[in-house]
Amino acid sequence: MAGSGAAPDKRWSLRGLTDEGDEAWLIRGISRKLYRCPGCHGEIEIGADHTIVQYVHRLGGTEHHHWHRRCAEELLAPELRQLRRVPASESSQGKLEARGKSRAGRRRR
Ligand SMILES: [Zn+2]
Repeated sequence: MAGSGAAPDKRWSLRGLTDEGDEAWLIRGISRKLYRCPGCHGEIEIGADHTIVQYVHRLGGTEHHHWHRRCAEELLAPELRQLRRVPASESSQGKLEARGKSRAGRRRR
């Protein structure tokens, strides 16, 4: 272990904030097709244990990317603020999408 603890697993996901104030959720996933990692631009093979990074935007809406575990841990996690572990059950796709919608509903400046 690198000691950062910034890698999600089955039980735990991670949640942090980007500089823009969007939430970034790091969730463990198994790839069902070939993805390209935004960190290193390399391929993530089918069936690979990897990290799904789901953004919940401050003004509503969600967006996700697939990262190599290592790239997410080394390149992305250090950029996030207030990164903390949250139970994986809190980070299901449905819950995060609902979160994206409710955030849009209480937009404020
Ligand atoms: Zn990568």
